[in-house]
Amino acid sequence: MRFSKAFIYTSKETPAEATLPSHIFLLRGSYIQSVGAGLYNFLPLGKRVLDKIRAIVKEELDKAGCQEVDLAFVTPSELWIESGRYEKYGKELLRFRDRKDAEFVLGPTHEEMMVNLVRSYVKSYKQLPLNLYQIKTKFRDEIRPRFGLMRGREFIMKDGYSFHESYKDMLKEFNKMEKTYSTIFKRMGLDFRIVEADSGAIGGSGSKEFMVLANSGEDTIVVCDSCDYGANIEAAKRVAPKAPEEKPEMTFGKFYTPNVSTIEDLSKFLHIEPYWIVKIVAKKALFDGGVEKIVLFALRGSDELQEVKAQNVIDANELLDVEASELEALGLVPGFLGLKDLPNDILVVADKELEGENCCVSGANEKDYHYVGVDLTKLDLTYKDIAQVKEGDICPKCQKGKLSFTKGIEVGHIFQLGTRYSKPLKAEFLDKNGKLKPFEMGTYGIGVSRLLAAIIEQHHDNKGPIWPVTVAPFEVEIIISNVKKEEELTKANELYEVMQKEGIEVLIDDRKERFGFKMNDFELLGIPYAIIVGKKIGENKVELVDRKSLEKEEISFEQVLDKLKEKLNK
Ligand code: ATP
Ligand code: MG
Repeated sequence: MRFSKAFIYTSKETPAEATLPSHIFLLRGSYIQSVGAGLYNFLPLGKRVLDKIRAIVKEELDKAGCQEVDLAFVTPSELWIESGRYEKYGKELLRFRDRKDAEFVLGPTHEEMMVNLVRSYVKSYKQLPLNLYQIKTKFRDEIRPRFGLMRGREFIMKDGYSFHESYKDMLKEFNKMEKTYSTIFKRMGLDFRIVEADSGAIGGSGSKEFMVLANSGEDTIVVCDSCDYGANIEAAKRVAPKAPEEKPEMTFGKFYTPNVSTIEDLSKFLHIEPYWIVKIVAKKALFDGGVEKIVLFALRGSDELQEVKAQNVIDANELLDVEASELEALGLVPGFLGLKDLPNDILVVADKELEGENCCVSGANEKDYHYVGVDLTKLDLTYKDIAQVKEGDICPKCQKGKLSFTKGIEVGHIFQLGTRYSKPLKAEFLDKNGKLKPFEMGTYGIGVSRLLAAIIEQHHDNKGPIWPVTVAPFEVEIIISNVKKEEELTKANELYEVMQKEGIEVLIDDRKERFGFKMNDFELLGIPYAIIVGKKIGENKVELVDRKSLEKEEISFEQVLDKLKEKLNK
C-alpha cells in the first residue's frame, strides 16, 4: 500500500472522549472513527487488524473441528420469548417492530437462533457432536458504552455453540475449547489468565473467562499467591475468614442504641468487632413480568455484598438501590434493619458464612434499637454465597495462599450451558435407546473487536501501539526520507516491489512530508518494523527500525529481505 494513496489520516490531537491508550491510539491513528456512543466505523487500518484477528480465530476453530455459519442479525422476538430471556435480558436488548408490526430484536448473542437452527436439522445422536460458530456483529444497548472498542454497543463477537448427546461429551468439548482459545490468544501475543467466572442464574462452576492482564481492565480478578486459582470477583470464593479471637458474650435482649445506625458506629458503641454484627443490604429486585420486590441481604458487618452473586441467587433480572421511603412504606426502619419481626412478603437471603451463628447483633427494625445475642439458628433463613471476597482472604483451592486483586479485560468466555436453552426451546434428539432428549450444550464467545483494544492495552508505549506481527495492519513500513531524492525513491520502490512479491505486507511512506513527520506516523501506527531509505542509500545502506525498542540498525540494501524474513518468521 502506498501511504500517498492510503485512507490514513493520523491526528496529533488526543480526542476529548478518550482516556485509555487503546482508545486514543485507535482514533488518532485513524483505525476507527466514532459515530455515536459505542458505535464505530472501522477504517482500512482497523479493518486490516480486525481481519487478522478474525483469521486467527477462524483458523484455530476450524482446526478444532468447528464449522462457521452466519446467522441473521435481526432475530424474531418469538424465539426470545420461547427461551424465557425476552424480559430477562433487560434494556441491553434492542427491540423493534417492522412495518407489519412484527417484533424483532438485534441479536446481542445467538443462543436462541442457533438452537432454532440445530433443532430443525439434527434429530439423532448420530449427527452429534456439533460445534457451530459465527464471527459477527452484535448489538447490546450497553448502559455505559465506553473506552472505544472495549465496550461498544455495536461490536464484533465470535460466538460458538456446541451440541452433545451427553454432559460428558459436552465437557470434553469445553476442555477442547479452553485449549483452542489459549492457542488463539497466544498467537495474538497476549498475556492472559483463565479464571472462574460468574455463571449467571444457572450457577455451577462451568464457566471460565479469558482475562487479558491490564491495569485498565474493567474486571477485577482474584488470584492466589501460592497456587493457580483465579476467579472473577463476581464468582470468587474463599475459605471463611477466621472469627476474631474474642467472641462476645451476650444474652438475648433489645438494646437502646440512639442514632447508632452504621456498622462502624455500632461496633464502637458496643465495643464489638463488625464480624459479630449482621449487616443488612436492602435492594429492589426486578423479576420477569415487571415484578418488583424488596430483598434484604444479610452479611457479616465485616463484609460487602457481591451484587452479581446476590442477583443470581434470587434469579433476578436486575438489582436496584432502594430509597429509605420505599422501606418505610413497608414498615421497615432504615439504619435499624434486622432479621426478626419482618413483614411477610420480604425476601431475605443470608450469607452462607452466617450459617450457624448463634450470638450476634442485628437491627431490631425499630428506631434506635438493636437486638444483641441473636441466635440465627432459631430463625428460618436461606443461606447463599453473597459476600464479596477481600484481599488477604484465604484461597479456596489450596486452602493456604492469600488472595489478591488484579485487573483484567475479558476477551473470551466459555460456558457449560447444559440444557438451559434446549429444554425451553424443545430442541431434542433421539438417543441410542430411541429416547427423546434435549441437547447438552456449551457456548463459547470471543470479543473480536474488543481484542484490538485489549492488544493495544498490553502492547504500547507513549507514542502509539506496538502491534505483535501476527495482528499488525502491515508487517513493515518503508520510509522514504526525502522523496525528492531520485535515488531514494527508486531504491525504495524497488524494495517495495520485492517485498510484495515475497508476500510481505508492506506500507511505503512515499508522501512529500518531512522525515520527522513520517517517523511520528510510523510510531503512532505501531507497525512492527520500518526500513528507512535515506541519504546513505548512496553507500547502499538503509536503516532497520524496531518499533518496540525504536532502535535503529544500519544494514546493507541486499540484507534487507533476509533480515526481515528472519524477524517476521517467514
Ligand atoms: P462484559 O462482562 O464485559 O459485559 P459479557 O459477560 O457481557 O461481557 P459475553 O456475553 O460473555 O460478555 O460475550 C462474549 C465476549 O464478547 C466477551 O468475553 C467480551 O470479550 C465481548 N463483549 C461483550 N460485551 C461487549 C461490548 N459491549 N463491546 C465489546 N465486546 C464485548
Ligand atoms: Mg455484558
